[in-house]
Amino acid sequence: MSRLDKVVAITGASSGIGAATAQELATRGAAVVLGARRTDRLDSLAARIRAEGGRAEILEVDVTRRADLEELVGLAVQRFGRLDVLVGNAGVARIAPMADLDVDDWGAMIDVNLRGVLHGIAAALPVFRRQGNGHFITTVSTSGLKIVPSQAVYAGTKNAVRTLLEALRQESTDGVLRTTSISPGFVRTELVDHIDDPGQREQVQHTMAALGIGPDAVARAIAFAIEQPDDVEIGDLTIRPARQG
Ligand code: NDP
Repeated sequence: MSRLDKVVAITGASSGIGAATAQELATRGAAVVLGARRTDRLDSLAARIRAEGGRAEILEVDVTRRADLEELVGLAVQRFGRLDVLVGNAGVARIAPMADLDVDDWGAMIDVNLRGVLHGIAAALPVFRRQGNGHFITTVSTSGLKIVPSQAVYAGTKNAVRTLLEALRQESTDGVLRTTSISPGFVRTELVDHIDDPGQREQVQHTMAALGIGPDAVARAIAFAIEQPDDVEIGDLTIRPARQG
């Protein structure tokens, strides 16, 4: 396998898909710049990557704060000279029927899943334009493709991100930018462990454990999109358990 000579910043790199992606890309040769709030997790991940001969930097990032994304992109440029790819992966899922009126949870999903991605685009776009190339990747979701009850706002934020990446793509047909929306189905991560309602949480955790694929499968899909030649764009990629309905 040829070496992946790219600098990749990843939000939500402290667990699940983000952590698996960091590990996968670093193993393939990329320099990774890892952002999340739990820096203890980032520290041990970066230590593992470095112990295996890889290159990794970490930064405490809350994607709801625009300045944190500016810093993450700045760290990549300062430490490695450029930023080739931003993986906007940080996300939260609060699953409940709309009638529960969990307005705070709705706000949290908008702030992290949508505004967080926009903050990343705002930080990286000028750098990508200056460099003459760059690649935005986001983890959206199959819940935006097959609409089901209890995921209205979650799916709404994911489809909003899908929409804005497509618009960004159409605004960038000069070949400078590539955009990729990855839509995972059930993936075994900590995502649903944060659902407040114990009944909902246990039900989804059960489905996740029974059906979910490992986060490394999504990491390989992300690596595939990155590894294409500069003039080849993988726009949308759906990756789900073979048994998912
Ligand atoms: P995890 O809960 O394991 O990971 C979520 C990551 O997001 C963590 O690293 C967390 O880090 C980070 N995060 C959450 N809030 C913030 C914030 N405010 N600022 C910065 N980072 C934040 O779940 P997954 O790995 O599953 O989720 C990754 C992405 O994949 C999400 O966008 C999710 O919606 C999407 N996805 C997941 C699916 C699944 O089945 N697991 C299916 C489809 C899509 P920290 O708490 O340390 O800040």
